[in-house]
Order: sequence, then structure tokens, then C-alpha cells
Amino acid sequence: MQLAIHNLSKAYRAGTLALDHVSLTLKPGILGLLGPNGAGKSSLMRILATLTRPTEGQVSWNGVDIVAKPDALRRELGYLPQDFGVYSQLSAREFLHYLAAVKGVSARQAKSRIEELLTALNLEGAANRPLGGYSGGMRQRVGIAQALLNDPKLLIVDEPTVGLDPEERVRFRHLLTELSGERIVILSTHIVSDVEATAGQIAVINRGRLLSHGTPEGLLKAAEGQVWEVLVSDEAFQGLRREHKITASLRRRDGVLARVLSAHQPHPQAHGVAPSLEDAYLALINDHQGAPVSAKAAA
Ligand code: ADP
Repeated sequence: MQLAIHNLSKAYRAGTLALDHVSLTLKPGILGLLGPNGAGKSSLMRILATLTRPTEGQVSWNGVDIVAKPDALRRELGYLPQDFGVYSQLSAREFLHYLAAVKGVSARQAKSRIEELLTALNLEGAANRPLGGYSGGMRQRVGIAQALLNDPKLLIVDEPTVGLDPEERVRFRHLLTELSGERIVILSTHIVSDVEATAGQIAVINRGRLLSHGTPEGLLKAAEGQVWEVLVSDEAFQGLRREHKITASLRRRDGVLARVLSAHQPHPQAHGVAPSLEDAYLALINDHQGAPVSAKAAA
């Protein structure tokens, strides 16, 4: 099972280069696709879900080009889009039956699959209630259920934790880990903690460019020596902020405890600390903040 993305670019009519020559090869497991808002994540997800075409480059699913022959992938694809809307009048069971029909799953297959998914996603108790009364977390589980109707080999979830409370987030992460065994799961998010505990691989994208792809350990290693902690006065904190990227700060009675990104000791009292994944991600984004976006960037 392999998804190969080669030299992928996407330009919109307005002239925005949403993806800039991205190459990435994926195997089973969870890929955390991290990037700030506007980085190009949804554009990439939509191309992989065969909803939009790339301007340049190729994507192949087990060796088959998904632009020329989208059907092979579509049969094995589950997609939970960012703006997953629900039909508030329908119950979860009705909604899933409706979508199964749209996806061409036979009525008999759909029946057993839907009961299986309702159980697996802990929606049995609420399955006959209208979706309009569901919490954010329940709605998200219905979204996952619809994405799993055809037992997909490629599961794409775009910003899945938006609108979830902390407890629902944790549950959602466990669920994804359970699902990831024999499939490729791509989880796109701007929240580092969404992928921290679950993703075996992390890709960081900003301004359409792939800045890093590898294990979380690799990402952490790249940020070693760049993270510092220092307790300073309010005034000194303002100064630090002007000079450096601050990844976290904690107000205490004796001042502000700041976590600072810097290639050199940013303050005489600062001491080096081990980077967190959040630090490592922000360090990468910070380094590439000024990178120009050009449609003519060399491949
Ligand atoms: P993300 O999902 O990481 O927030 P997007 O892929 O949605 O990023 O957006 C990447 C860039 O492309 C942004 O500058 C966005 O404004 C632009 N963009 C996205 N979709 C469209 C579209 N349909 N038409 C024009 N520009 C778009």
C-alpha cells in the first residue's frame, strides 16, 4: 500500500500558489500533516481525495495515477472534510444509510457495516436521534463513521478536532490510533498536540512548501539546542519578545517564565531545555517565515 506524491503544485486563479512542488511518499500508519492556517493542507487533502486537480505534478495510489484514473483510489478512500456538514433532521442511522447509498455500497452490506460502525464509534445509544441535537464530538464520530463506510485503505481527516472539547479530543486520538493499523491515515491540523501522541510520521508544511517529513524524534532532534527557558521581569519579557520567537510563557508571582527559540543564548540567565514537538514545529515555521512564494520557484 503506497501513496506517492511527486512534485505537486496547486495554483488558484487568484494567483495564490497553495502548494509548491511537494513530494511525499506514504506507507500505512498515521501521518500528521502540520501547518498554520493557509499553509496549503486542505488543498493537498482535496487533491488526494480527487476533488480537485493539481496544477502540476503527480499522485499515484499503488502505482496508479489518481488524476487520470481516480476510481481505483475512490473505492478505497475515506474522507472527512473540514466543513463536514450534517443533515440535522436525519438520525445518525438514517444519515449513514443515505451516504452508503450515495457511495454505492449495497443495501445488505451497508446494514451490517453501519451497525458495526455505530457500535465501534459508541453511537448506538443515540443512533435514532436527530443529528441536530448531537454534541461536536458525536457529530465528529458520525463524520468518521461515514468516512469508514467502505472500509477505506486511505483515510483523510482534515482538521478533525476543531470544535471538540479536550476530552473529546483525547477520545478522537485514541480512535484514530485504533483505525490506523492496515491503512494510511492522513490527519491534517494546525494543533501540534493532535498529532503528538498518534502520528508515526510528521510532515510540516507552510506557504505551500514541505519543510520537513520524518519521525517526531527526527523533528525534535532538528530543534535541539534552539530552545531556552528563562525567568524574567515583565519589562525584560517585552524585550525578549521583540528579539525572539516565544513558544510559551507562564506568568508567575516572581515574573514571567518564557520559552524562547534562539540559535544562541538569548539572555544571560537563560538555560537550554529539551525541545517539545510544539517548539520544534514553531522553530521550523519560524525559520521559513520569510520564504517567498513564487509560482516560478525552481523544482
Ligand atoms: P490550510 O488548509 O492549510 O489552511 P488551504 O489549502 O485552505 O490551507 O489554503 C492555502 C492557500 O490557498 C491560502 O492562501 C488560501 O487562501 C488559498 N486558497 C484555498 N482555496 C482556494 C480557492 N478555492 N480559491 C483561491 N484560493 C484558495
